[in-house]
Amino acid sequence: MAKEWLSTAGFATLAIREGLTPGSEQEHSDPIYATSSFIFESAEQAAATFSGEREGHTYSRFSNPTVSVFERRLAALEGGEECVATSSGMAAILTLCLTVLKAGDHVVCSRDVFGSTVGLFNNVLSKLDISVTFVALRELEEWERAARTNTKLFFCETPSNPLCEVGNIRRIAEVAHSVGALLAVDNCFCTPALQRPLELGADVVMHSATKYLDGQGRVLGGALVGTHSLMTDVRAFVRVCGPSMSPFNAWIFSKGLETLQLRMNAHSERAQALAEWLEKHPAVVNVNYCGLVSHPDHSLAATQQSAFGGVLSFEVAGFRSQAWKFINGVRLMSLTANLGDVKTTICHPASTTHGRLSDEQKRAAGITEGLIRIAVGLEDGADLQRDCERGFAAMGL
Ligand SMILES: *Cc1c(COP(=O)(O)O)cnc(C)c1O
Repeated sequence: MAKEWLSTAGFATLAIREGLTPGSEQEHSDPIYATSSFIFESAEQAAATFSGEREGHTYSRFSNPTVSVFERRLAALEGGEECVATSSGMAAILTLCLTVLKAGDHVVCSRDVFGSTVGLFNNVLSKLDISVTFVALRELEEWERAARTNTKLFFCETPSNPLCEVGNIRRIAEVAHSVGALLAVDNCFCTPALQRPLELGADVVMHSATKYLDGQGRVLGGALVGTHSLMTDVRAFVRVCGPSMSPFNAWIFSKGLETLQLRMNAHSERAQALAEWLEKHPAVVNVNYCGLVSHPDHSLAATQQSAFGGVLSFEVAGFRSQAWKFINGVRLMSLTANLGDVKTTICHPASTTHGRLSDEQKRAAGITEGLIRIAVGLEDGADLQRDCERGFAAMGL
């Protein structure tokens, strides 16, 4: 089918129409190619496909038509040349690092990244003689000072979890490029529906598709998006090392992308309303949500994001026991550290996601004992407020 519409298509159209398997126009919903390998018409054709002379699939660790749909669609939404899907978000980060780094290289990474990302740099890449310096996301001078002659990669996650701090992608990219390093942005919290880091100067976008790209908490997956040249190297790594995405998961993610923009806007609207409501509550000391005018990064967030996302955190007075009473008092929200789901989730970062940090590290990261994180889902806003009232009541308020 000719695709004249593609060159002018908007985000929502691309999210629904881009990437469909050529020749599958009979099925209105794209099929799942549940096959490990592909067959050929002749020895000549097999040889040409394996050598890369002829385009085509050979084995699903290398590529699969259902996975290709997701890759083409996400690349279009991020405004990137090409995407490579992986088995999880962590597999995407590992793949990126082992593609662009070698022994002796150095990485600069924002401090408040996902916990396993810190673990990957500190415990795994360190064994390969790849070192990392962690810096404060918002302090450009720290990024500048941390860079060395062997720095090959800058890595950041914005907005940060759980304080919703925002890094200036354009400026961090300038610092990275001035020392010849690449900038990779973990775009899990915003997704391309709200923020497109490549347009702001980043070289690679990384995703845990497990979160908002699925959106309903069903399957694990990850992705990298960047130039054709970089993704060729990334694909070569996935091909020989095997962190490939399963076709079933890719099908889920392609379906997820179809409703991504609607969902992200709805998550953002509900989070904004809940943040504004919590900010007025007498038991709340502070609300961290970059959609609030009171948030120190509000104006920067408003320039590089089209909305502020679904994750907020707030602090109650009275330390851990009061925060735990609130969390034990809610009935609707799910008590889990996961996020990016239609179901609202709640957690106590100081004793879960950030539980392994020392007291000093927690203080430095702003993770107080009274801090509660809510990843706002898509239930009715009034029900979420009522659930918070149950939490406050359990605190004796
Ligand atoms: C969950 C998450 C990851 C890791 O993704 P997995 O799919 O769980 O491997 C990385 N970054 C962020 C911001 C995440 O929330």
